[in-house]
Amino acid sequence: MICRIPSQLSEFVYCERCDLYKTRRHIVFGKGNLPCDILMVGEAPGKVEDLRGDPLVGPESRLLWSTLTKVLREEKLEEITYFITNMVCCRPKALESMKEENRKPEVEEMSGCRKRLLTLFHLAKPKMVLLIGSVAGTHARIGAERATFRIYNPGYVVRNKAAYPEFIASIRDAIRLLREIKHV
Ligand code: SF4
Repeated sequence: MICRIPSQLSEFVYCERCDLYKTRRHIVFGKGNLPCDILMVGEAPGKVEDLRGDPLVGPESRLLWSTLTKVLREEKLEEITYFITNMVCCRPKALESMKEENRKPEVEEMSGCRKRLLTLFHLAKPKMVLLIGSVAGTHARIGAERATFRIYNPGYVVRNKAAYPEFIASIRDAIRLLREIKHV
């Protein structure tokens, strides 16, 4: 699985298109294969992702990763390729909070990062777009010509374990649809 930045995104390496650059530690572009079968788009990097520069290290990301891996193994589709990114590459944090908690990205921040998301979409050429959580579900507006699936934000599932059966069922539905699309 790659984590390096594609050359087509090099103009974003020192990006200051929105104010999130002021407090980030790392730009978290994403991780996975390009091109890929599934492009997953989440909300934003969290505290751990910002510290490590890796989109798959926080508890929410680990839940998504482990659930997807489990479903792919169950469906015997481990060869499916994917790339995970977010609506914004830099962590939005709530500065008024003493704990400096994560917050949702603002519309202007997502607009600043949109060119990067579209470039990534064209590099990924995905057969399916998986929109993770309500922010991506509402604002991503990519992949209209592709199969598009929406799933719960894994952060919600981490806090509400009762939502896990629905969460994994939606990922299973997405993977089964992808199987039909790929004829495998
Ligand atoms: S979130 Fe996107 S647009 Fe904003 S500074 Fe980071 S890379 Fe640039």
